[in-house]
Amino acid sequence: MPTFVMAEKCDGCKGQDKTACMYACPNDLMVLDKEKMKAYNRDPWACWECLCCAKACPQQAMDLSGYKDFVPLGASCTPLRGSEDIMWTIKFRNGMVKRFKFPIRTTEEGSAVPDGGFGAGSDDLNSVDLYTEPASLGSAVWSFKK
Ligand code: SF4
Ligand code: SF4
Repeated sequence: MPTFVMAEKCDGCKGQDKTACMYACPNDLMVLDKEKMKAYNRDPWACWECLCCAKACPQQAMDLSGYKDFVPLGASCTPLRGSEDIMWTIKFRNGMVKRFKFPIRTTEEGSAVPDGGFGAGSDDLNSVDLYTEPASLGSAVWSFKK
C-alpha cells in the first residue's frame, strides 16, 4: 500500500528543514520540493508500506494506494491520528464513507526499548538467528549455528 502525497493538501510542513513525513519514513523516501513546497514519495516501489508518513502528516495529505482487491480504483483510506487513537476514513467508490477508530500505542515517545529488553549484541550481525533469538524462543535448542 505505497503512499502518495496529495499536493493540494500538502503545505510542505510550512518549510521546516525536515518535514513530518521525512522524519517518519524509515526508508528515507519522502522528499520536499522546496520550490513548490510539496513533498513527494521518490520511489513508491521501495515503500515498506509501514504508513508512518501517513500517520505523521499533520495535513492528512497522504493518500494510500491500497491493494486493488480491497481498495478498488476510486476508493481511498485516510488516517487521522489523535493523541489517543487513530481514525481511518474509508471512502468507497460508490460514495459510501465509513470510519473506524482504534486506540494507538501508549508508549511515550522516546521510551521504547529498541531490543525489547533482550540485550542483543553486535555479534548478532553475523548470526542467522533473528534479532532476539534464541532468548525469545525460550529455548537454546532452536538456535541455528553461526
Ligand atoms: S508531512 Fe504532510 S504536510 Fe508535511 S510535507 Fe509531508 S505530506 Fe506535506
Ligand atoms: S509508508 Fe513507510 S516506507 Fe512508505 S513512504 Fe511512508 S513512511 Fe516511507
